[in-house]
Amino acid sequence: MTIYEHAKRHAWFMAGALVLAVLFVAVVDRFFGHSTIAFGVAIIGLVIANRRMLAYNCPTCGKNLFFRGMFAVPWPNRVCGKCGTDLGAR
Ligand SMILES: [Zn+2]
Repeated sequence: MTIYEHAKRHAWFMAGALVLAVLFVAVVDRFFGHSTIAFGVAIIGLVIANRRMLAYNCPTCGKNLFFRGMFAVPWPNRVCGKCGTDLGAR
């Protein structure tokens, strides 16, 4: 599997984690009333789950696949934005 495919899988994993986090907060809200703690737990959970994102770097220049310049985006680059390496090629 290429680094791009790994990164893409992580992007899907994060989308699922985000849905679960939103559901978790909604369920706590519904049964226990509005909870800042539930919201905090969901955010911390997402940050921890997303730590892996930092491991997806271009093998040629080391640039992170999820960064476009100084901005982080939820979907990885297929072609490295810095050195132009095709990250989806085998
Ligand atoms: Zn690169």
